[in-house]
Order: sequence, then structure tokens, then C-alpha cells
Amino acid sequence: MSEKTEDTAPVRGSCFCGTVTFEVTLPTLFCAHCHCTMCRRVHGAGYVTWIAVPYTQFRMVTGQEHLSVHHSSDHGRRSFCDVCSSSLFCESTHHPDQIDIVLANLADKIDREPQAHYYFSDRVDWVTLADDLPRFGGETGTEPLK
Ligand SMILES: [Zn+2]
Ligand SMILES: [Zn+2]
Repeated sequence: MSEKTEDTAPVRGSCFCGTVTFEVTLPTLFCAHCHCTMCRRVHGAGYVTWIAVPYTQFRMVTGQEHLSVHHSSDHGRRSFCDVCSSSLFCESTHHPDQIDIVLANLADKIDREPQAHYYFSDRVDWVTLADDLPRFGGETGTEPLK
């Protein structure tokens, strides 16, 4: 494989059971941890790490018919595999040109490391973080915190 092919090869992703598979073409728009209540409950986790790409860099490969959509807020919808329940995507009318994708469901390395914590004011007190990443919170989840 030439270096050029490796650079442009899409990153593969899937749900836990492999029914839903998709491809993401780099570069990503961001990679960040989200501590909001919705993310935590949907995933049963202390926080969730997301990436985003424009829709033009996203392609469903298999399992579109097994993608169930839950409207989680007035502007957001989350989708999951109706076979294994893996949470996969989050979409919002606040940023209609991009799709948020759970980093843990990607099989290949992406173009960046996680760069920030969002909704940090809503975090649980049973997770200890030891990184120096910027932390954002407040009402919007995106206001700089001291
Ligand atoms: Zn699945
Ligand atoms: Zn969240």
C-alpha cells in the first residue's frame, strides 16, 4: 500500500455486534470528551468521547435498516444499533452539516487525540481525571472553566 493510499483510506467503524458498519474519511472536525447527563446515561459510562466529521466524509456501509433513532432533545437525535444497542451517532439541528460519532466504535486510528472536556460542570464525582486538557462547562457545556 502506498503512503498516499494510507493517508486517504477511510477509518472503519461499527457497532458491537457488527450489523451496523460505516466509514469516516479524515480529517475530523474535533475529538472531545463529553460529560453531559444524556451521554452518560445513553452509554452507561462516566463520560463519552466523540469525534465529528462533515456528512460528506461519512458513509454508512451496512445495517442502515438496523439503525434506530431516539430524539433525545428538541434539537438532537441519537442513533443506536437495534440488534446490540451500541450507541453510534449524535446529530443536532444546531450543526446540521456534521455528524458526531462515538470514538470507541472506530476500528482505526484517527488524525488527533482528544482535545477537551465539555459539560465538565455536569461530571460525576466518581471519575478521576489526570490530564491537562481544557475544561468547559456552565449552562451550555462549552464555557471555559477555571
Ligand atoms: Zn449492533
Ligand atoms: Zn454529551
